[in-house]
Amino acid sequence: MVVVMQERATGEQVERVIAQLVEMGFDVHRSTGALRTVIGAVGGKTGDPRLVEVLDGVQEVLRITEPYKLASRTFRPENTVITVGDVRIGGDEVIVMAGPCSAETEEQVDASAAAVKRAGAKIFRGGAYKPRSSPYSFQGLGEPGLRLLRSAADRHNLKLISEVMDISQIETIEQYTDILQVGARNMQNFTLLRELGKSRKPVMVKRGISATIEEWLLSAEYILAGGNMNVMLCERGIRTFESYTRNTLDISAIPVVQQLSHLPVIVDPSHGTGRRDKVAPMARAAVAAGADGLIIEVHCDPDHAMSDGAQSLFPSQFDRLMAELRTIAPAIGRGICVEPAARRGWGR
Ligand code: PEP
Ligand code: MN
Repeated sequence: MVVVMQERATGEQVERVIAQLVEMGFDVHRSTGALRTVIGAVGGKTGDPRLVEVLDGVQEVLRITEPYKLASRTFRPENTVITVGDVRIGGDEVIVMAGPCSAETEEQVDASAAAVKRAGAKIFRGGAYKPRSSPYSFQGLGEPGLRLLRSAADRHNLKLISEVMDISQIETIEQYTDILQVGARNMQNFTLLRELGKSRKPVMVKRGISATIEEWLLSAEYILAGGNMNVMLCERGIRTFESYTRNTLDISAIPVVQQLSHLPVIVDPSHGTGRRDKVAPMARAAVAAGADGLIIEVHCDPDHAMSDGAQSLFPSQFDRLMAELRTIAPAIGRGICVEPAARRGWGR
C-alpha cells in the first residue's frame, strides 16, 4: 500500500505511521516530495489499511494494484530525476549517452570519446564485459578496458556507463563507472538485480529481448526493493517476427512506461535496429515520443569495429543527428545540450 501524508504532516506523524507499518510486517520506503511525504509499504503481509488511515497526518491510503510497487506512479507521482554529477537524467533535458559498443584500444576509446563529446553527448558508453551470442566473438577487454574508458571519459569531461554481466564484476565496475548497465540478456538475472539493489551507483536496466513491459518493470523493482532508488529503464528493441531489422524498437513503450512508472526511460536505437542507416530516424522518433535520453553506438572507425560496427554511427553522422535533436527536443518542451563543444571552439 501507499500512504499519502497530508501536506502539513509533521516529522513525528510520519515516524508514527512508519512504526505502525513496520509493526504490521511491511518493508517501508519513504519518498519525500516537494509537497508531501509518501510512504510505500511492500511485502507479503496484507494488514488492515484502516489501522494506518486513522493515524494523525494521514491523507489517504492507496492500494497499489500493479505487481511492481516502488516502480509505480502510485508510489511516486513525480518523475524520478537521477543526478550523476552535474547531469540530471529524467529532468527537462534529454540526455544523450554515446560511444563504442566495446572498448578496443586506447586510441579507439579516446577518439570515440572526443567525437561524442564534441557533438554534445553528456555520458560516454562502452563495454568492457560483453555479452556475445557466440563464445567465439570478442568478449571485451575486462578491467583494462574499464581503465581506458574511465580515463577517456575523464579527459573529455564525460560521465561513464558500462555493462555489468555478473555479480562477481560489480565491485570492479563500480570503481570505474558512474552508471551500471544491465544488458537485455541479464534483465531477469534476479541474483544480479538483487545485488545491484545494494549498490550506490545508478543502474540502467535494458529491456529483455522478449520481455513484456510488466516483466521489465518487475526487474527494476528488484533493484528498488533492495534500496537503490536510482534506476532508469532502456528500451532497446524486442524480438518479433520481423527480420529486416535486428530487433523491433518499441517506441510505444516510452509513453506506456511513463504512465505506469516514475523512472526515466532511455532509448537505444542502435541495438533497436541493428543498422546504421536506421539509427537516426529512430533516435529522432524516440525524442519526439518523449524519451528522457538516448544511448547510441558511435565508433571512430565503425567499419573495423570489433563488435556491432554495422549499427555504429560515424562521428559525422552523430554530429548531424545531435543537430536534428536540437530542433526536435524544444518542439516538445524539452531541452537538450544546446552548445556542442565544437561551437565553443574546442577540438575539431
Ligand atoms: C550493449 O549495450 O552493448 C548491449 C550489449 O546491449 P543489449 O544488452 O541491449 O543487447
Ligand atoms: Mn553493442
